[in-house]
Amino acid sequence: MASHDDLPSAPHTIDDFVKGYSESGRLRGFRCPHCGLVTATWGLACARCGKVGLAETELTPRGRVSAFTILHVPGDEFLNEAPYAYVVVDLDGGGRITGWMSGVHQEKELKIGERVRFEPSYKPGVQFVHEAEPAAPG
Ligand SMILES: [Zn+2]
Repeated sequence: MASHDDLPSAPHTIDDFVKGYSESGRLRGFRCPHCGLVTATWGLACARCGKVGLAETELTPRGRVSAFTILHVPGDEFLNEAPYAYVVVDLDGGGRITGWMSGVHQEKELKIGERVRFEPSYKPGVQFVHEAEPAAPG
C-alpha cells in the first residue's frame, strides 16, 4: 500500500503563490500536458482527463468577471478598502481565479462579463482592475 509520503505534494503553499503574484507580477497556474486544461488550482490529477502531472504555467492576466459580490466586512488587510468587490474571473487563456477589486464599492459599478486585468498589489490575494484603467505608476 502506498504511504502518504509517496504521493506528489503541491509544489507551493498558497502563501508562496500569493507572494509570487506580487513579486513577479505574474499569475501562476497549471497546465495539463495530456489534454491542455489550464487551471489556477493545483490538483493531484487533472480535473478534466484525470491524468496526473500538471505542469506549472503562467496564466493570462486578463479575463472576464463571471461572478462577484461586494464585501462590507473585510479582513484586517482590507480595512481601508471596504466596501470592495470579491470577484471570480474567467481568464482569457483558461483558468478561473478569485480576486478582489478595490475600486468597486457598489454592485452597479461592475457587471458580469466585464473585462478586467490583473494588477499586482502588496496586499494578499489577486487584485483586479477594470481593463481600461491605466497601469499603476512604478
Ligand atoms: Zn488533462
